[in-house]
This record gives sequence, structure tokens and C-alpha cells, in this order.
Amino acid sequence: MKYYTFRQNNPRGRWQTNVPLILSIQAESLAHAQIIGENVTGNNTDYCACCGGYRWDWLRADEVADEPTYDNKVLTAGLTKAELYGGYEYASGRVSYDFWVVDSQGCIKLKVSYSRGEVATLG
Ligand SMILES: [Zn+2]
Repeated sequence: MKYYTFRQNNPRGRWQTNVPLILSIQAESLAHAQIIGENVTGNNTDYCACCGGYRWDWLRADEVADEPTYDNKVLTAGLTKAELYGGYEYASGRVSYDFWVVDSQGCIKLKVSYSRGEVATLG
């Protein structure tokens, strides 16, 4: 199985804050990743004509790989914010720069939040 990684979009400049900025899901296919992802994040269908799509673009994964990755960096507990974002705060106005890794059962295996300076490993 591959990992399908998605980055949250923010129509109308609003973030969904109870879910991560980056979500990597282990799944059999993109369609399978979508089902798991909607279970984990809720099926938020907010849409803006100028900002484009949904908060999560389930039509495509930003990245697909054998390991959970984003921007070709493996999403592990030891990954620093600077390593992940290269010092560039991609999501302007967002309070937390975080990522979750979810397995094919929909269980959150890793939660990393840089905003609170905490790294939590689950499962
Ligand atoms: Zn807009």
C-alpha cells in the first residue's frame, strides 16, 4: 500500500483547525484514501468560487509514495518544522503547522504539532 498525502486548502482564507495542515493516509488507492480521509477529517465541502476547491482536495493526492512523505520529506516524529517547510511559513495566518499519518484502518498513528512544540506518537 502507498501513502497518499494531502495538504489542506483554505477557501475564503479560513482553515479547518481541528485537523492537520498535512494528512498522509495509507490506502489501497486514491479512492480508498478519500474514504479514510473523510472519516478522519469529516467531509467538509466548503467551497469558494475564487479560492477553488474543498479544504481537502480528494480528487488528487499532493504526493504518493511508499512512506508517508510531503515535499519528498518523510513524515516522522523527528522531522523539524524547518526541515518540513524550509523556513517558509506556507500557510500564512494558520496557528498550527502540523501533520498526521493515518493507517489504512483510519487510525491516527502519528500526530506532530509544531505550534505547541509537542510531538505525539499514537498507536
Ligand atoms: Zn475565494
